[in-house]
Amino acid sequence: MTVQLVEQLKSLDQKHFLHPTSSIEEQQIYGPAAIFCEGKGIYLKDLGGKTYIDGMSSLWNVNIGHGRTEIAEVAKEQMEKLAFSSCFATFSNEPAIKLAAKIAQMAPGDLNTVFFTSGGSESNDTAIKLARHYWILKGQPNRQKIISRTLSYHGVAFGSTNATGIEGFRKFTNSPAPDFYYVNKDSAAELRKLILELGPENVAAFISEPVQGAGGVNVPKPDYFKEVREICDEYGVLFIADEVITGFGRTGKNFGIEHFGVVPDMMTFAKGVSSGYVQLGGVLISEKIHRDLCALSKGILMHGYTYSGHALACAVGLKNIEIIEREGLVQNAKEMGEEMLKGFQALQKKYDFIGKVRTFGLLGAIEFVKNRETGERFDPLLSPIAVKEMVKRGLILRTVTYDQDTLVFSPPLIITKDELNDILRIVDETLAYLQNEVVVKGV
Ligand code: PMP
Repeated sequence: MTVQLVEQLKSLDQKHFLHPTSSIEEQQIYGPAAIFCEGKGIYLKDLGGKTYIDGMSSLWNVNIGHGRTEIAEVAKEQMEKLAFSSCFATFSNEPAIKLAAKIAQMAPGDLNTVFFTSGGSESNDTAIKLARHYWILKGQPNRQKIISRTLSYHGVAFGSTNATGIEGFRKFTNSPAPDFYYVNKDSAAELRKLILELGPENVAAFISEPVQGAGGVNVPKPDYFKEVREICDEYGVLFIADEVITGFGRTGKNFGIEHFGVVPDMMTFAKGVSSGYVQLGGVLISEKIHRDLCALSKGILMHGYTYSGHALACAVGLKNIEIIEREGLVQNAKEMGEEMLKGFQALQKKYDFIGKVRTFGLLGAIEFVKNRETGERFDPLLSPIAVKEMVKRGLILRTVTYDQDTLVFSPPLIITKDELNDILRIVDETLAYLQNEVVVKGV
């Protein structure tokens, strides 16, 4: 494409496209950061012909990599046969039934029934509403309060925004919803304290990501979820695991919560279920909840999206899971995650301004500190500068600046050792540059 045509698209973007979770100011000054036009494996290409490594699997979701012909074929086939039909009023379709059964088979414990959505925010809103509705059916209508953790991210629909512990998302508007509460992300004891303060008879559910993603790849202590499970059981509070990032292999197991040896009452998923090829998500509920719903629900379940059980999306989801299983991508995530940690540790030895590093399967984080002893941070923060420098060098990563100065990684699960080394090499080159230009010179 000519430079002129690219410039034309950029100005159309500035005028007509309000971007999600973006700096409007930067868009208006510089135009879009890149206009992507192709993807293959771990690589993305923009209209200017530049290639980037997609070190974030785009939005933690393109787990099987870009440009899979098999997915395109199954999508075409399903779209020609039946793209969409209603799942309201008990109508159904074959891909939705098969995908629900497949996910139930993969999920831990007795999480065996699926409600479909089009993404993570809808899934968490659904889980919150199902939890509240469940308690009404069970004759405990006061159980409506939802507890989540500081620095959590659950999405941007009304329920999921209010459950999100990263404050900036809640402060986007000035009317917080009632009945949402937050506990320190590291402390199960504080969860117990808060439940007792609120009165267990008023608490519907506790929601948590097994490993926080957008909050900075924060890994809980090994016994955290065992304690959470015990506390929830003790006070009759439902435990919802938000597996939107961690589901479908990213952590080296099918679902992140499996590392902690507990089974939640509900589990939400999205992203990795379709690797971003189509919009798809859902909520898994336990057999107990399902049994109770079957026994107590009268009339119509007054919750449903037009696209719940979308035939095309579910057919793509099935093929995506087939690829994950056939290519052993869950195991690859585990092995490459271990390699990524070794790479991070080597960088940590080399650069004094790296504080903590951590990985959990193919989720990774490198924290920057001015002083390792005191944990003092750079001002301005270093990770946003690092991310911009890496884009110039053809690597897309992400920065987390709430409460920390962190570079986060979430590469596609198909990544090879050589490709991982390419990522680490670009990170190394960028950090060497930052060492000279920013850390030493202070500019
Ligand atoms: N939960 C978690 C843990 C997420 O990371 C996200 C998205 N990043 C969501 C929920 C919201 O998903 P979506 O953007 O698909 O609505």
